Amino acid sequence: MSRRPRCRYSTCPVVITLGLFVMTTVNVAAQQKAPSYAIAIHGGAGSAPENDEDRSSREAGLEQALSAGELILKDGRSSLDAVEAVIRVMEDLPQFNAGRGAVFNAAGGHELDASIMDGRDRSCGAVAGVRTIRHPITLARHVMTDTRHVLLVTDGAESFADELGDAIERVSNEWFSTDQQRKNLQKAQAFREMPDGFRIGTVGCVAIDSQGNIAAGTSTGGLTNKRFGRVGDSPVVGAGTYADNSTCGVSCTGVGEDFIRHAVAYNIAARMEYLGESVEEAVRATLRHPSHRTSGGVIAVSKAGNIVMDFNTDGMNRAAADSNGRREILVGK
Ligand code: ASP
Repeated sequence: MSRRPRCRYSTCPVVITLGLFVMTTVNVAAQQKAPSYAIAIHGGAGSAPENDEDRSSREAGLEQALSAGELILKDGRSSLDAVEAVIRVMEDLPQFNAGRGAVFNAAGGHELDASIMDGRDRSCGAVAGVRTIRHPITLARHVMTDTRHVLLVTDGAESFADELGDAIERVSNEWFSTDQQRKNLQKAQAFREMPDGFRIGTVGCVAIDSQGNIAAGTSTGGLTNKRFGRVGDSPVVGAGTYADNSTCGVSCTGVGEDFIRHAVAYNIAARMEYLGESVEEAVRATLRHPSHRTSGGVIAVSKAGNIVMDFNTDGMNRAAADSNGRREILVGK
């Protein structure tokens, strides 16, 4: 009579239990690796804080903006809403070069640029050279959703805002004039050898929501002492902003001419798509390309929810959070 073979190992139940435990732990770890939402924001790259007061005000601004975005994402709302909300907060804070704190151009006025992109279908909208729009990011979103165009500039963008009525808040151009930026203009004009990129502080946000949709946006007053009519990378989709659900979202800050020349934001997504690079590798390779001079910084969020915040300047104001508990606010190096 044949006997049923017994497990060779008397420890069989222990081995099975241990195996199950290891599998469960690995599974939980894998689940933790992919957050249900992730968000990164920047408040410009270029200068390290001048003193403790400067540092604390930058940190407080980042905290306020990050919290606004987190609230929306935790609530299960869209990354587009989070990006717009974060940038609206920063556009009202005088410590950043966007909206209220926009730099002066060489003619002594303010011209503002912004763009936003939806990674679901690469729809996007942008405005450049606007002079009376309190929240250029909101006008950019309306260009995306309410027109068949991508970029509206100067008077055309202003008259589009007229059509939108109360949806777009208007202010005088002087409303953007702060004492700090007036001093920066004087310094930039006095020291002619100083690069135009002196004290930059553009704002941007990239997020992925619980539906896996990525959005990115950027808003700026441009470069201090820029020529009247100059437009940088921030409203140029593919240069200063990009979002595609199949790869990543990107928002850039720095000397806009460099970012336009090298199509920095798109280049990062393209490296991921064509070379199979991780978002970390793609950002590093793009910002440190041996023959492309690109002075500034980048925030990026991949479709897996990985966040990268990298720069090649003296510092970048930046913050990030995700549903796995990551939360950081960093100023300077
Ligand atoms: N990239 C912006 C521009 O060139 C400036 C900045 O990021 O601070 O307009």
